[in-house]
Amino acid sequence: MTLLSLRDVRVTFPGRRGLVRAVDGVDLDVRAGEVVALVGESGCGKTTLIRSILGLEPIAGGAVTFDGERVGSGQRDLRALRRQVQMVFQDPTGALNPRHTIYEAVAEGVRIHAVASGRGEAEVVADALSRAGLRPPERFMPRYPHEVSGGQRQRVLIAGAIALSPRLLLADEPVASLDASIRGEILALMRSLVDETGLSIIAVTHDLGLAWNIADRIAVMYLGRIVELGAAEDVLGSPQHPYTRALLSVVPEHQHVEQQILVGETPDPSRIPSGCRFHPRCPLVASGEAARLGIEARCRGEDVALVEHTPVHLAACHAL
Ligand code: ADP
Ligand code: MG
Repeated sequence: MTLLSLRDVRVTFPGRRGLVRAVDGVDLDVRAGEVVALVGESGCGKTTLIRSILGLEPIAGGAVTFDGERVGSGQRDLRALRRQVQMVFQDPTGALNPRHTIYEAVAEGVRIHAVASGRGEAEVVADALSRAGLRPPERFMPRYPHEVSGGQRQRVLIAGAIALSPRLLLADEPVASLDASIRGEILALMRSLVDETGLSIIAVTHDLGLAWNIADRIAVMYLGRIVELGAAEDVLGSPQHPYTRALLSVVPEHQHVEQQILVGETPDPSRIPSGCRFHPRCPLVASGEAARLGIEARCRGEDVALVEHTPVHLAACHAL
């Protein structure tokens, strides 16, 4: 079942150098019970895209549909949506109020939505903490954020997010601020929540290597667009877009991909190149391979949409 559907979603900001096209035509479906990793360099529009799903960024075009209803068009009650779609932020220390106990941190969201579940607040909080791996919950409830570890703080945020049994979690770089040694256990916790409850997750990461640990599918984003999309094993095992290959070639566990250094700067979304937006940095163009394949003129002059490499593995490259 498709839980979330994005169609040609666009988000723009006014910028000093003109219109910033932060999200520039994204199509994506997320099914119930799956984890999609959204991967790409800093500035490619990942955070803006997930904020637009919650109606936190107004969309300039396209459509976001959650559970069959349009978001952000006034047709859907954003309050009801925010109960079903919860955000987990990157930096648990910044996201938690240092003067609130862990009990308060988790109870806050429960109160905002005044859940009439028939269960008392304390029971909902204890259950959420325990599902987030903070057991026994009574031991953690009276503590303050600085009294627990970074990994435990991230578990508190996850407890807050799952307390109301949402159907979709939007996790923005959920382990980026954590020690490498505990990243795996937080990702494993998120994976087990999905497997146990049928929740869906969009997990944003700039690290393609981490996607392997959690994702069913991977969406690779470049300059506001998804340029490759497919099952995690397909995207990591047989990357079709030269941008994905370049990202993968610097991940230690994927050194079977020949090392490719991307030329040029991280591009500016108020200056999106014409033709294939990746062509100024594309190793196929730089190496002359595109010319040999007879596609260089199209790379420079013709925009490219996602096409099927297989029915479940898509990439936006003229070489396909
Ligand atoms: P990511 O999360 O992938 O690092 P972001 O979604 O944060 O990327 O940003 C995408 C682009 O949009 C960046 O160029 C960023 O500077 C720009 N941007 C994000 N938010 C705003 C804003 N509120 N005003 C202007 N530009 C913004
Ligand atoms: Mg971001």
